[in-house]
Amino acid sequence: MNILVLGSGGREHAIAWKIASSPNLGKLYVAPGNAGTREIAENVAIKADDFDAVAEFVRKAKIDMVVVGPEDPLVKGIVDYFSAKPEFKELMVVGPDKLSAQLEGSKEFAKMFMQKYGIPTAKYLSITAEDISEGEKFLESVNPPYVLKADGLAAGKGVLILDNLDEAKRELRNMLGGKFGSAGSKVVLEQYLDGIECSVFALTDGKSYVLLPEAKDYKRIGEGNTGLNTGGMGSVSPVPFYDADFARKVEERIVKPTINGICAEGMNYRGFVFFGLMNVNGDPYVIEYNVRMGLRIKSDLVDLLEAAAKCKLAGKSVEFDSRSAATVMMVSGGYPEAYEKCKVISGLEKVKSSVCFHAGTAVSGNDVVTSGGRVIAVSSYGNTIFSALETSYSSLKNISFAKCYYRTDLGFDLK
Ligand code: AMP
Repeated sequence: MNILVLGSGGREHAIAWKIASSPNLGKLYVAPGNAGTREIAENVAIKADDFDAVAEFVRKAKIDMVVVGPEDPLVKGIVDYFSAKPEFKELMVVGPDKLSAQLEGSKEFAKMFMQKYGIPTAKYLSITAEDISEGEKFLESVNPPYVLKADGLAAGKGVLILDNLDEAKRELRNMLGGKFGSAGSKVVLEQYLDGIECSVFALTDGKSYVLLPEAKDYKRIGEGNTGLNTGGMGSVSPVPFYDADFARKVEERIVKPTINGICAEGMNYRGFVFFGLMNVNGDPYVIEYNVRMGLRIKSDLVDLLEAAAKCKLAGKSVEFDSRSAATVMMVSGGYPEAYEKCKVISGLEKVKSSVCFHAGTAVSGNDVVTSGGRVIAVSSYGNTIFSALETSYSSLKNISFAKCYYRTDLGFDLK
């Protein structure tokens, strides 16, 4: 099977890395890819949201399956684009259609969906510039900290968590006034959920699902989970507090009603669902939906993706890797605010015990250089999450680029 992975970040590098080990694979392409995917696949210079160019390549390279990594082309309707063209009837496109991509593309849409299907989540109110005073009343009615979210896609940065009521009101006005561009023309205000975060993944064909391993992400830039939110500073899997009892609650209260909702709404969703969860005193709540992938899947991913694309997931099972896994993200100094690009990255070839997924890299002459805020995700296996973390930390000592930053405390809250 010839497979095209769309995207250029760490997620797409990880997906391509897993697909590359499949016996079902013919040729693997990544568009546009990065300096890391070039090592395991053929990079194609096409933008993921240039649908006509993607279609042309699918035709030319006889692609059987397209795996869509980033949320942008999904929200813009790449799945609908291909399903509307009879010539691509046999093409498998892994990802949600435009309607279901709104689960990630619009916080308000996701909240309304959760409310409709009785899925536990924080109390909320959605506000536009016209009803700002209602928003202020909502903020006055809840306890701090105050949670403000831009409704649309803002690269994981459109969420503010503030302790001070006046500041929250001021930021509400700033957001509605264009701080996050059009993503913030609507703002979702939420009750703060006090707990510890984790996430779980499912692969669905829109009717059935298989559960994938859980993980714990570290999203704040600073040590001890402080400072601004990022697209992710690292993660570990499995999660010690994600025991059988918690897993059962997640499946019964969250995963099943979500898949039932997707089915009831007639959504054409064949792909990954990521559930961002908060464990509040042993009870799971949904923070957000997303599309993403984990490292601890032992089963052949291509086989699973094919089953999802052909609506044949019922009865499938996923074998998890019994090892633990951990990822530490190396970022450009200054991120998630302004940062410099084009810094030469050295030492990647010295890393032997970890896999370096490229999240924001490019090739410049003979060099691999930084091209984004999140640069390299150093991922390792271990007998425990702590030994996996140790391996990642020792591997990343080989890698260097100017103004590099990473958190040194991952896993601190799980000991
Ligand atoms: P989101 O983009 O919705 O996942 O929000 C980004 C991060 O903000 C989450 O990973 C949480 O750490 C935090 N967060 C979002 N919503 C809440 C909430 N209602 N209560 C507490 N923390 C939250």
